[in-house]
Order: sequence, then C-alpha cells, then structure tokens
Amino acid sequence: MHDNNIHKENYNFKTLVKSVPELQPHLKSITGKTTIDFNDASAVFLLNKALLLSHYDIRDWSIPENYLCPPIPGRVDYIHHLKDLINKNDVKGLDIGTGASLIYPLLSASVYDWEMTGVEVDETAFKKAKENLSHNPHLASKINIIHQKDRGNIFKGAIAEEEFYEFTMCNPPFYASEEDAVKANRIKNQNLKARNLTRNFAGVSTELWCNGGEALFIKRMIKESVDFKTQVGWFTTLVSRSEHLPKIYKQLDKLKATHKTVAMELGNKKTRFVGWRF
Ligand code: SAH
Repeated sequence: MHDNNIHKENYNFKTLVKSVPELQPHLKSITGKTTIDFNDASAVFLLNKALLLSHYDIRDWSIPENYLCPPIPGRVDYIHHLKDLINKNDVKGLDIGTGASLIYPLLSASVYDWEMTGVEVDETAFKKAKENLSHNPHLASKINIIHQKDRGNIFKGAIAEEEFYEFTMCNPPFYASEEDAVKANRIKNQNLKARNLTRNFAGVSTELWCNGGEALFIKRMIKESVDFKTQVGWFTTLVSRSEHLPKIYKQLDKLKATHKTVAMELGNKKTRFVGWRF
C-alpha cells in the first residue's frame, strides 16, 4: 500500500465498533486476532460504514442491497497515487462510473479536499450517490454528481465545454456479460444462503458488466479521450487484469499519448492504473 495509506495497519476494531455499534455482533476472533467474515455482505457493509465514519468523517453512508461494496483501503490507495501523479493543490477531478457508493469523490474530497465530479449511468446508483452526498453537507460544495444518459458515452455529457479537469479516474465495469457477472457473484457468495443468491442475480449485474468488459470499456475510453485532450491533464483508469495492458499500450502509442502505469499492491492482490495525456 501507499505510504500515506492509513490502512497499512490492521483495522482497529475497538475504535470502529465505537463509531458503528452494529458491527459488534459480527466480530470474530481467529487465532487471537479480531476480524469479521469477509464473505458476509452485511458485516463488510458495516465495516465500511465504520471505516468511512471514523477515518474520513463520511456520515450515514449506504448502498442499495447487492450493489458493489467497495473495499476502502484499495480505493484510498488509488487516490494517494493520483496525488503523486498530479502533484498539485486545488485539484479538480472526474470519476467515471462513480457507483451508488460515490466512493472516490467522497474519499478524495475528504482526504485531499479535491473538487470532484462523479458520473454514473445506472439510475438507481445515481440516486443513491446523491443520497450519500446529502448526508454529508460538509462535502456538498466539493462534489457534483452527473447522470450519464447515454451508455455509449464516457466523457461526452460529463465534461462541459471549456471545463478543465486535472485528472479523470475510473474503476471500469469488469465483466464481459451479465452471465459472467452472475457467475462470479455466485462463486463469491457460495457461503451465503440461497435466499441471498437469488437477490444477487437481480442486483449486481447491471452495475458490474458492460459488453466486452473492462478491456472494451477502456478501449472506448481511450478513443473518446482524444476529443477531450485539451480539457484533461491526466486520464487514468484501473486495469484489473494485467493481460489487458499490451493492447492498451498499443492503442495509446498509436495515438502518440504519453503514458504511465502505476502498480498498486494490497495484501496479496496486485492491481494497477494506467495514466495517459496528450
Ligand atoms: N466507482 C465505484 C463503482 C465502480 S463499478 C467503485 O469503485 O466501487 C463501475 C460503474 O460504472 C458502475 O456503477 C456502472 O453503472 C458505471 N458505468 C458503466 N458504464 C458507464 C458509463 N458509460 N458512464 C458512466 N458510468 C458508467
């Protein structure tokens, strides 16, 4: 994790439970260490609420049932690495696919006081993102949320004429089809009761998949970024599968964009984001 990431240390469950007492019944002791069952969606959700409240003063955060519950340490890591890349104060950033959680704008505004815009195509997620912001009036002047009406657009409809963003960021939809999303979710939830499984079928899919998955979404993003090259300092996106990198580099080289890959490590999980500019 990034040196400035406070989650390098183990979670302090004593403090976390103080901020969200409902977390208490979910605590377990495994070989003398306090933890929770990370396969239990309600425990993870309460842990997130507690982390957001106690470390970032993000209040009354929630997501609709079965929507993506973002692991906070990884989300904060991207933001700290972006800070290194941009190396400026008074930053304005754009988050593509902000989700119901509004996680990147909330954390960026809280940690670095950045001005953020979140764009979201899914209407339920968009409404929930607005609700999350309304519970945090102290961040309201820093965050703007836009509903993307056209699934085919990424920056169009999000970046206004003459507007300038120091950076764009994105955690792209990563499954190639609804079927893949459901399958992956089924494996993830195999420990949960069948009752929850059926609900998961309905919920996750629209949020997590787009035709072609991560690779195609990024390809479209790079292509569209050309039209906004004078309005963005650094375009960036997470690339969760390293096998997608060669094609991404090829496309960027062809467009004569300068690019940079930033590796991120979270426990035993390796990921990265690619940044490019013209
Ligand atoms: N940023 C959140 C959610 C990431 S999931 C997090 O990191 O947890 C990807 C999100 O992108 C989903 O909410 C999906 O609805 C949204 N999305 C898909 N296509 C989009 C588009 N063209 N424009 C904006 N958002 C889009």
